[in-house]
Amino acid sequence: MTVLQENYNCVLKNIEEACKKSGRDPKDVTLIAVSKTKPLEMLRDVYDGGARHFGENKVQEMCEKMEQMPEDVNWHMIGHLQTNKVKYIVGKCALIHSVDSLHLAKEIEKQAAKQNCEVPILVEINIANEETKFGIDRTEAMNLVKEIAKLPHVKIQGLMTIAPYVEDPEQNRQYFHQIWQLSVDIKNQNIDNVTMDILSMGMTGDYMVAVEEGATLVRVGTGIFGERNYNI
Ligand SMILES: *Cc1c(COP(=O)(O)O)cnc(C)c1O
Repeated sequence: MTVLQENYNCVLKNIEEACKKSGRDPKDVTLIAVSKTKPLEMLRDVYDGGARHFGENKVQEMCEKMEQMPEDVNWHMIGHLQTNKVKYIVGKCALIHSVDSLHLAKEIEKQAAKQNCEVPILVEINIANEETKFGIDRTEAMNLVKEIAKLPHVKIQGLMTIAPYVEDPEQNRQYFHQIWQLSVDIKNQNIDNVTMDILSMGMTGDYMVAVEEGATLVRVGTGIFGERNYNI
């Protein structure tokens, strides 16, 4: 087994552990290998180790990698998405995690209608109200969900959040719990065209806590591929 495959398996094991601790079924949690900035060889390595879900945050990088990787990869757009780039990924990626405005959702609707396909999305919540982060305020989430729900080709499947960077992951437990609660509140509204089966939360530093608090998708980059170097 390669180093990256060992890392990948180690994260899977930790997820299992967190599931056991919180009485959850590990089958309900999917690990996304966040491969942004990493070369194809590394993606293939982790793919050979069993990974079928990859996360990227730039449209062009994702599209290039899509062409080079096997067809059975599920691609997750996890980064901020500009409306003029939507057309390149609609119909191609498994899930768009980062929808935080009606404007963006309408562009997705337009492109999806053109291609006659349905586009699964998550609504991104800025849970700690950090100015540096994308995502919508928790208090505005319900209204945004109701508006996006009217778009027939856009399928809201849940919520996504990027928690603050913290030394101690326990500090983020409150936020993960709030996102879970918000998803329950939205689910209870029984909004047409909306399901709340997915919670995308938890990264290298805090994914175990996120799983304990109900994450169904965790996005781990550094913990699998190592530190990213943005200077090359
Ligand atoms: C980069 C990134 C991750 C992975 O972060 P790590 O700390 O390296 O695990 C997860 N989610 C999003 C949205 C990201 O941009």
